[in-house]
Amino acid sequence: MEERKVLVAGGNLLQAHTWKGLLEACGIHVELRGEALLGGIGELPTGMQNVELWVGESQHASAQVQLNALDVESPQWQCVQCHETNEGSFELCWQCSSERSESHN
Ligand SMILES: [Zn+2]
Repeated sequence: MEERKVLVAGGNLLQAHTWKGLLEACGIHVELRGEALLGGIGELPTGMQNVELWVGESQHASAQVQLNALDVESPQWQCVQCHETNEGSFELCWQCSSERSESHN
């Protein structure tokens, strides 16, 4: 079994899931760890989770590059319905499922 290294620690669960999906689309296997995973994904308070993303040592560098690219290309946006701030990689508001507004970019 390959050694694993932590890629991101202390992120919130929704963001971690987004990153995981994007990294896995790039062929990078990601493992989620953290206290937040012990509960359900139903109604977690935002910003309160302690989630860690772990990747294989050989993929750590490329995963880091992918994450950096993500930060640059995905500015946050604010939902026009509930005014929640969403990560740029989300197409729908995570809170109320409204479509992403064009007014804020
Ligand atoms: Zn919303």
